Amino acid sequence: MEECIFCKISKGEINVEKIYENKEFFSIPDANPVGEGHSLIISKEHFETTLDIPNKVGPELLDCIKQTAKKLMEKYNSEGFNITNNNFEAAGQIVKHVHFHMLPRKKGDGKRGIFLG
Ligand code: 5GP
Ligand code: ZN
Repeated sequence: MEECIFCKISKGEINVEKIYENKEFFSIPDANPVGEGHSLIISKEHFETTLDIPNKVGPELLDCIKQTAKKLMEKYNSEGFNITNNNFEAAGQIVKHVHFHMLPRKKGDGKRGIFLG
């Protein structure tokens, strides 16, 4: 079976510059950004949805979210950020390896609170 794209990135089989990483999660720019700085927080291990993430790695997830947000807000001089997490096909999940979208935001940037249509 063809291995999933985020597992390949996680194992370093595809070279992508990481924004931040810890023991359990890493973040990278999204390949098809919906706005400036659109990035993804991805588990190093293959879990399909948020329901499959073990509770014990909760602190590492929160750490990756916070550190990535700080770096993106500084880089893009933004005043806020959104996090979106699509779970299962019905909710628009295309890559079946859990990931959290992050979008830096500025006042008056014309985007809504939920940024992925
Ligand atoms: P989903 O709809 O599953 O929540 O979104 C998947 C996201 O992964 C999309 O925003 C898409 O642009 C991004 N994506 C898909 N393949 C790759 C890839 O190989 N590299 C990166 N950086 N992003 C990807
Ligand atoms: Zn995977």
